Amino acid sequence: VFDSTRTRDWTRRFAASVYATEAELTALDQQVGDGDFGTNLAAGVRAAVLRLDRTGGPAGSAETLGAVATAFLDEIGGTSGPLFGLLFQALSRAAADSDVGLTTGALAEGTAEGLAAIRRVGGAAPGDKTLVDALAPAAAALRAAQGTPVAAALAAAADGAWQGVRDTACLTARRGRASYLGERVTGIPDPGAVGVALFFASAAETVH
Ligand code: ADP
Ligand code: MG
Ligand code: MG
Repeated sequence: VFDSTRTRDWTRRFAASVYATEAELTALDQQVGDGDFGTNLAAGVRAAVLRLDRTGGPAGSAETLGAVATAFLDEIGGTSGPLFGLLFQALSRAAADSDVGLTTGALAEGTAEGLAAIRRVGGAAPGDKTLVDALAPAAAALRAAQGTPVAAALAAAADGAWQGVRDTACLTARRGRASYLGERVTGIPDPGAVGVALFFASAAETVH
């Protein structure tokens, strides 16, 4: 189970993995978009960690994820900032609904709700070469992992997300800036999908 300490560790680990990958994310968005995704995601995790540092006390998982969500929703531009914010907001709600922190069930519910909100707001479907292509398999893996420990469920979610990233490389984009570039982006993975995979990989490493 993800208690409040682990949720904070998850956020910090995600931030560290984003900083380590920022240049690569920038290079990907230079090829399929306008080159600011690395900067946008790094600004998001920086703002999120700042919020955690400011709220010194022992906040629960729901409060922690809520602070991360607010940082992305209120402070980060680009298309991805608000979309990541919706995922963190849904995970925060699922944590609040659970009496015992982020169980496999709560993670599955929050991820499914986040995916639904992102699809509602962004209008992307699976196969459009967006972060939805990493989030949908992560949500499916978590749903299939009901009843298994959080560590195994998150490892499966991370595997699903990375498979989704690889699948985006085969796709031509139908949403976002990459859709203006047609066949030219085939072969290049979607940067937003990589960001989603980093998020679940960080979670899996936190409970490893
Ligand atoms: P911008 O295109 O505004 O510069 P970012 O660079 O911050 O946005 O984010 C780009 C990422 O956002 C893409 O790689 C893709 O994963 C995701 N994205 C773009 N449009 C959509 C959409 N309509 N639905 C879901 N994800 C999207
Ligand atoms: Mg961009
Ligand atoms: Mg931009």
